[in-house]
Amino acid sequence: MSNKAGVLYVVATPIGNLADISQRALEILADVDLIAAEDTRHSRRLLGRYGIATRLVALHEHNERGAVGGLVEKLEHGGRVALISDAGTPLISDPGFRLVREARRAGINVVPAPGPCAAICALSVAGLPTDRFVFEGFLPARSAARRARLQVLASETRTLVFYEAGRRMAACLDDLCVAFGDERPAVLARELTKLHETVLDADLTTLARRVATDPEQCLGESVLLVGGAPEPDSADAESARQLIEVLLDEGLPVSRAAAIAARVTGQSKRAVYALAQALHDTSEMPPG
Ligand code: SAM
Repeated sequence: MSNKAGVLYVVATPIGNLADISQRALEILADVDLIAAEDTRHSRRLLGRYGIATRLVALHEHNERGAVGGLVEKLEHGGRVALISDAGTPLISDPGFRLVREARRAGINVVPAPGPCAAICALSVAGLPTDRFVFEGFLPARSAARRARLQVLASETRTLVFYEAGRRMAACLDDLCVAFGDERPAVLARELTKLHETVLDADLTTLARRVATDPEQCLGESVLLVGGAPEPDSADAESARQLIEVLLDEGLPVSRAAAIAARVTGQSKRAVYALAQALHDTSEMPPG
């Protein structure tokens, strides 16, 4: 590495309204030697609006593996590079992970220039609990895989945040109703910061029906948020624990004990299995 190592700036850009970019982000983009952009033509429009003429190179999901080596070499020789994506924060359902990982491994200073992110933007206006949430990004496009993923998430108690393409929104909401039940609160945050910004909140069935009957709700870009499952009742959790202890003492395998305890107490299978595994592991530990 040269004695003057470079810097990799990870710069957030607008998710719709081009004015949503920080003064610092603009200064960095104007000042660096090179901007690595997901789609150089798309980003030129943003940079053009602010009179920024910095050289652009493409870094997208199809060339990231190959392009990272060259970029890290530039950084090691003192280059100052900014990473941007088409919209929002790079790496958040966007390219850049390999570049950031390799730059860090090479000891390069990686500096964030924070700004818009559709998930956070949607959470900030949804009116769902935000003290804990999970970002699930895009669900699988195929229905069978999507349903399987949603089944795993059904007992998640934190607010769930999904990115979803408009053309799949109706099918996705139908699958959500099946996996999560009809009554969970849900929010569809569409075209945030743009002309047709819409934030709809309802229970899952009502939202699914609205999207199925109003094609406009499938246009543009959307974040879908769903309220988490109710917290498990602590009395039920305690009975599950006691029952698992008895069943494990009787010599039942963890999976069988968990299945019975989940059925008897109505607790989620995942939670009960995790508890059974933990109790089994503790009982196996040597005393002292
Ligand atoms: N990196 C971006 C971020 O920080 O949010 C996300 C990029 S991901 C490829 C694009 C997805 O983000 C869209 O399909 C949509 O789910 C969501 N999204 C992006 N812009 C949005 C907007 N203005 N309103 C609602 N959702 C948006």
